[in-house]
Amino acid sequence: MNKEVILTGDRPTGKLHLGHYTGSLKNRVELQNTDKYEMFIMIADQQALTDNARNPEKIRNNLLEVLLDYLSVGIDPSKSNIFIQSQIPELNELTMHYLNLVTVSRLERNPTIKYEIKQRNFQASIPAGFLIYPVSQAADITAFKASIVPVGEDQEPMIEQTRELVRSFNSIYGEILIEPKGIYPKGNAARMPGIDGKSKMSKSLGNAIYLSDDPDTINSKVMNMYTDPNHIRIEDPGNIKNNTVFTYLDIFCKDRIYLEELKENYTRGGLGDIKVKKYLNEVLQSQLEPIRNRRKEYEKDRDYLYEILKEGSNVARNVATYTLKEVRDAIGVNYFNM
Ligand code: ATP
Ligand code: MG
Repeated sequence: MNKEVILTGDRPTGKLHLGHYTGSLKNRVELQNTDKYEMFIMIADQQALTDNARNPEKIRNNLLEVLLDYLSVGIDPSKSNIFIQSQIPELNELTMHYLNLVTVSRLERNPTIKYEIKQRNFQASIPAGFLIYPVSQAADITAFKASIVPVGEDQEPMIEQTRELVRSFNSIYGEILIEPKGIYPKGNAARMPGIDGKSKMSKSLGNAIYLSDDPDTINSKVMNMYTDPNHIRIEDPGNIKNNTVFTYLDIFCKDRIYLEELKENYTRGGLGDIKVKKYLNEVLQSQLEPIRNRRKEYEKDRDYLYEILKEGSNVARNVATYTLKEVRDAIGVNYFNM
């Protein structure tokens, strides 16, 4: 029996951060290691260009950074196909076919797109490619017949849009495409806030702790983290809700009993921010050190890194070519090879 397929990916707009780790990478590594699935992991350079077209070097320069982050958290190229989106031109043709099945107003209603347009200050100058990237994402997911997509919460509207497209396509042209299901982490990990506490941790917002940050950088980011603004003196009662330091501890701290004690103490008054931050720093340092060390090992062999991407892209292209042929046959744009 064929294995179920998983597809996920990341935009090479920067190095990967703690939000990626808890939101998606951890799930991927666990699923990869069950050996139950066929896993495709895409570096979404073309999607990244939809809002970085005037700065293509940024995308080019981050390709290997993302790959290094994958390898350092335990994604294993002998078990997972890692590939580059732009090297699979079949995805673009699929996108063109799917674009006819979605309305402009539906695209404009996508809540993640709406949020990202605001965040990027596009106002009236939204690149058309940016507005339609959820359709291109539907092409990515369906090209591999993926049924499972492990992502963070911001991707839920994208998965929903893919599901709608699959239903329309299949009802018009026959049951060719698979309707995917998103897998989201529980609680705060699904949408990890940035160190500013305001919004989601994101490469494009400068509010991230990166998996590859050195110990001093991690320490200074933790020390500058947003906490309870009304917790001024140590003896004041503090609020642990919307307090980024506690949100991070909830996600990363393994000693749950000690964490409960800290929370009670902080809420009651008598526990200072510095002490909690020092503890969070310890927790993060111990989890990030082995990741950073593995990264340093992989950095030494660039040829090997390109080999992984080339091989993964070849495998991915074969699969996408097959799906595109099915799609062309179903629509009937196959005049010369019937
Ligand atoms: P950009 O700012 O360029 O969009 P990003 O930081 O949002 O970058 P993406 O490459 O867009 O990262 O997202 C890759 C994956 O990581 C997606 O599955 C997304 O849901 C997940 N992810 C990103 N940020 C977070 C976060 N703060 N919390 C949980 N998951 C996240
Ligand atoms: Mg994003």
